[in-house]
Amino acid sequence: MVDLRCIILVIVFPCLVGVLDASAGDTDPLYRHCVGECERTGCVRERCFTNCNFPLNGSSIDGPWYLQEPLYLQWKKWDCQSDCRYHCMVEREKDRAAVNEGPVKYHGKWPFQRLYGFQEPVSVAFSVLNLAMHFHGWLSFFILLHYKLPLKQNKQSYYDFAGLWHIYALLSMNSWFWSAVFHSRDVILTERLDYSSAVALIGYSLILAILRSFNVRDEASRVMVAAPFLAFITTHVLYLNNYKMDYGWNMQVCVVMAVTQLVCWAVWAGVTHHPSRWKLWTVVVGGGLAMLLEIYDFPPYKGFIDAHALWHATTIPLTFIWWSFIRDDAEFRISNLIKKVK
Ligand SMILES: [Zn+2]
Repeated sequence: MVDLRCIILVIVFPCLVGVLDASAGDTDPLYRHCVGECERTGCVRERCFTNCNFPLNGSSIDGPWYLQEPLYLQWKKWDCQSDCRYHCMVEREKDRAAVNEGPVKYHGKWPFQRLYGFQEPVSVAFSVLNLAMHFHGWLSFFILLHYKLPLKQNKQSYYDFAGLWHIYALLSMNSWFWSAVFHSRDVILTERLDYSSAVALIGYSLILAILRSFNVRDEASRVMVAAPFLAFITTHVLYLNNYKMDYGWNMQVCVVMAVTQLVCWAVWAGVTHHPSRWKLWTVVVGGGLAMLLEIYDFPPYKGFIDAHALWHATTIPLTFIWWSFIRDDAEFRISNLIKKVK
């Protein structure tokens, strides 16, 4: 039961964010008209954007690569769209506030105030802290394995899941890096990178959960278990990026992969008598509370701190405990091995 929610929270969430595609704000005809005008003229009321001055030669950003424009031009277009959406939203929200109407979501996100060009500065800061927490966890795991615990003669660790956790650390840091970028600037490219990284992390975590919970130690068996999952994850990422960014389908895939890994961890937690169970339980309770934040989603306080940002804040201590558990697992397994040898 333990790890389950932790994994679901740490991992599934980026997928869930994508589900919220059309929102009340962006279906509003006044907002749509404003964005359409802005992308054509480059201006919202008196404010004009330099990024909206590009040659209209009719080439598409969705066509095959050889028909696409250079990346900087695409970026300019995305930036123009982002500026237009932001300033139209600000104007719409001003008008709504004037008639005592509360804030509504636009493209799945609450109206945030930009700070130094960052769209959601608080979520960015928490994403960076999550990244730092994974780095800290990974570094302390590395130091424990290589400097504190006994090593084999070839200088490798006795902990047979070390390599898998190293990859997990890299994928987690990659995912939080793109989360920070995506919350800084939400354009097609950053969205794709964030979603792809999240899918890669969830898929990999599933493989890791199976290998660890079934205690698969033999290389050939590991490859056999991982191969079909890797093939599926790769196909799914290619589908999202090259065929259709289907948020609903992506959520289903993520939830199924997350629930499956939860079941694996549950079985494993049930059969082993790990000395660090309390850490897992702490993560479960923390994860449960964090989940409430997502259920009672609220608009940003002062335009900055919303439920999503707080959710990113709660995964920071959970990540700390999770890595502490991973270190304990390494110690536990190595001490068991040494006992067996003696
Ligand atoms: Zn986020």
